[in-house]
Amino acid sequence: MNYDIIIIGAGMAGLTAAIYASRAGKSVLVLESTVQGGQIINTINIENWPGDYKVSGAELMQKIYKQVVELGAEVEFEEVEKIEKLADGFKVTTEDGEYKAGAVILAVGAEPRKLSEKQAKDAGERPISYCATCDGALYKGKPVVVVGSGNTAKHETEYLGNIASKVYHIHHDDPIPEDAAAVFVAIGRVPATEKFAELVDLDEKGYVVAGEDCMTSCAGVFVAGDCRTKETRQLVTAAADGAVAAEAAVKYLGK
Ligand SMILES: Cc1cc2nc3c(=O)[nH]c(=O)nc-3n(C[C@H](O)[C@H](O)[C@H](O)COP(=O)(O)OP(=O)(O)OC[C@H]3O[C@@H](n4cnc5c(N)ncnc54)[C@H](O)[C@@H]3O)c2cc1C
Repeated sequence: MNYDIIIIGAGMAGLTAAIYASRAGKSVLVLESTVQGGQIINTINIENWPGDYKVSGAELMQKIYKQVVELGAEVEFEEVEKIEKLADGFKVTTEDGEYKAGAVILAVGAEPRKLSEKQAKDAGERPISYCATCDGALYKGKPVVVVGSGNTAKHETEYLGNIASKVYHIHHDDPIPEDAAAVFVAIGRVPATEKFAELVDLDEKGYVVAGEDCMTSCAGVFVAGDCRTKETRQLVTAAADGAVAAEAAVKYLGK
């Protein structure tokens, strides 16, 4: 299937890019490996999205998703495995098939950092979760452990304190307590860019190197949102990138 623009990722950056690209009259395909909405969907209370005070991530993203579909963009739930540059565009390979596009926007965001090898071994067969709000209720009255040293780990520990019989809060190199029924991991996030390392330049942490113009080292490939090198990773900056990347892609196609 041929599209003008293929957008990888249906988080805030990718969905905003889809709105701008569709409204510019382009045929748009959004490819998403999990569910629409991205990393914000488990957040209950967003207080800094202008115009929608105390909105839940799921509600906000569902509204934006609906807008994208109504504007005519297609969305497929497939994980992108590879992007290759061709003489006349790009071939995008997913787990289920192949697509072609004149331009590509990477909006793959970030995913939770995994446990160290040692802690993963310690955890053994016990369930590992990256979201206390999503999975905490499954461990009502049972001891659990939270791994991590930052604010998110603190927040997860407090949240689980109202549900679990006991919450151990440990750091990333401590042993996992034997009686913990589940392990909640909150040790940061890493950009989901590994698959695109041959296509575009990444920095030492794996972020796609690009400035505010969202242009990557590969002509015709644009980047938006948390997976880009930048200072502030928030919803509004992801949305802004989505708009900039889409406009740049439209301009590129017009050349
Ligand atoms: C717990 C938490 C709370 C937060 N609270 C706030 C807040 O209150 N206010 C605020 O402004 N920001 C907040 N943020 C930050 C905000 O969520 C992010 O800045 C924003 O969601 C980034 O959007 P994105 O589209 O760049 O990436 P993401 O939301 O990460 O979306 C990327 C999407 O790409 C998909 N994807 C990845 N790889 C592939 C692939 N190979 N093929 C297909 N699809 C792929 C992913 O599944 C995902 O859906 C919070 C973040 C977290 C983790």
